[in-house]
Amino acid sequence: MKTVGFIGLGHMGRPMAQNLIKAGYELHVYDLSAASVSALVTHGAKGASSAAEAASNSDVIITMLPEGAHVRDVYLGSNTVLSIAKSGALLIDCSTIDVETSRFVHTEADTKGFEMLDAPVSGGVKGAEDGTLTFMVGGRAAAFEQAKPLLEVMGAKVVHVGSAGNGQAVKICNNMVLGISMIGVSEAFNLGEALGLSRQNLFDIMSTSSAQCWSLNSYAPVPDVVPTSPANHNYEPGFSSAMMLKDLKLAEKASKDVAKSSPLGHSACELYENFCNSGGNQKDFSAVIKFLQNL
Ligand code: NAD
Repeated sequence: MKTVGFIGLGHMGRPMAQNLIKAGYELHVYDLSAASVSALVTHGAKGASSAAEAASNSDVIITMLPEGAHVRDVYLGSNTVLSIAKSGALLIDCSTIDVETSRFVHTEADTKGFEMLDAPVSGGVKGAEDGTLTFMVGGRAAAFEQAKPLLEVMGAKVVHVGSAGNGQAVKICNNMVLGISMIGVSEAFNLGEALGLSRQNLFDIMSTSSAQCWSLNSYAPVPDVVPTSPANHNYEPGFSSAMMLKDLKLAEKASKDVAKSSPLGHSACELYENFCNSGGNQKDFSAVIKFLQNL
């Protein structure tokens, strides 16, 4: 399992691939952007001119792509991963995509005799650079055991969460809570300020009381209370509002697919959509506090 085809070298894929190179894996890399491929070649990867070429000689194929449509293209198109990978290759999709597409690609991989895992991540670009991502992995247990040492190079926590598509399902549920909780924390700071409270007092109490959560304790949407908050740097991401909207839309779609009502998830999705449409899409998702102030 020493040869890895890595497809998708964006904000996340590039540092993940670099960590694999540092750990001694031979990487064959591909991205639509030739510049991204060249950048990895300078770090010791072998550049490929197509996804098929990156996949054809590899024991493991990892994809880190924007959305489900890209994953379909790369795995299911003619002369792409499923038609070119060598027998016994393990397929790992680390992109965050909809559960339905993920399960469909798993089934197609199964039909062609390949083991596949969906292994979306949390931890952002910093986690990818530091090799401290959390991987939530769906697929067969044997494939998980095979992939684990490799995933541990890129992550600090690697968890098997069940069968095909379950990794995506966990990721979507997690990020739905994240979006909702950020809006809740933002509303509390806006209300507290209007009631004459100091943000420091409010933070000190809430962060040690029953309101505590990651959106407050680690990522407060107001400046000067948490050193690592994007709020201290004019809401530069971090995790962009566009990314949050993408994940809330995935949660919305998943809720519809299984006929499960998620009213707060739905409202969070609408609020982030309006925020993104009003120009906030490249701001950190905690900047939603500013949008809420002006409603
Ligand atoms: P990105 O847009 O920076 O990178 C995606 C890369 O895929 C681009 O370089 C693009 O050229 C390439 N690509 C697209 N279609 C391709 C194709 N057909 N063949 C080859 N390459 C192709 O995105 P990112 O920030 O790296 O995110 C990747 C995935 O990880 C997304 O699903 C995202 O939701 C998820 N994610 C991102 C973060 C984050 O903080 N950025 C955190 C957790 C999860």
